[in-house]
Amino acid sequence: ARQFFVGGNLKMNGTKDSIKSIIEHLNSADLPEDVQVVLAPPAPYLSLAVDTNTHKNVEISAQNVYDKQSGAFTGEISAAQILDSGAKWTLTGHSERRTLIKESDDFIASKTKFALDQGLKVILCIGETLEERKAGVTLDVCARQLDACSKIISDWSGIVVAYEPVWAIGTGLAATAEDAQETHKGIRAHLAKTIGAEQAEKVQILYGGSVNGKNAPDFKDKVDVDGFLVGGACLKPEFVDIVRSRI
Ligand code: 13P
Repeated sequence: ARQFFVGGNLKMNGTKDSIKSIIEHLNSADLPEDVQVVLAPPAPYLSLAVDTNTHKNVEISAQNVYDKQSGAFTGEISAAQILDSGAKWTLTGHSERRTLIKESDDFIASKTKFALDQGLKVILCIGETLEERKAGVTLDVCARQLDACSKIISDWSGIVVAYEPVWAIGTGLAATAEDAQETHKGIRAHLAKTIGAEQAEKVQILYGGSVNGKNAPDFKDKVDVDGFLVGGACLKPEFVDIVRSRI
């Protein structure tokens, strides 16, 4: 069985004080033994987050990484620096970076591969826009985004996939558990074709987009929904309710 996984993406939010208190709240919470929690604060707070965290099943993630070792890449962050801060993960391919920073499928794949090669684990985000949803090409879009990675990455043991439909992010309109399950099943079936059935069966597929303490339990019995990637709600105490939603 795949382990229940809850990621929290703080995006460009927080201060030393607020991030410390989010993590202290997690420290004092009674988290299930068998859950993996990964929290992604803004880069300036990675070390603070690592130093504040006391839970053995909570790990810290960057939100972005570059696909080069070091050098003249102003404003970018290397995998080695993320690891040096004590963080073990990075996100790649978040829709906000695909859209606002215009990151391409190939660039995201290159970063994902480089990060894995350097020893980071990666939460690879994919998902369709509302127009693509309406056009009925949800799975084609997810497949295209995944294929850019599977073309150059053969070992997927360090990757967690986060399916985040763009229309559900920050809108309060989460996908229904049924819709998420159907898409996750399609994603896993596609991965079986590209990376093999054995690896596809092991890859955790998270749902992201307006997940909160109230709707998280709805996804409990969906066999291909292995957890969540949470934005807004990870800034609030209800993040703990999401982490505890499968008890
Ligand atoms: P919200 O939970 O705020 O919709 O954001 C989801 C997300 O983008 C997480 O990466």
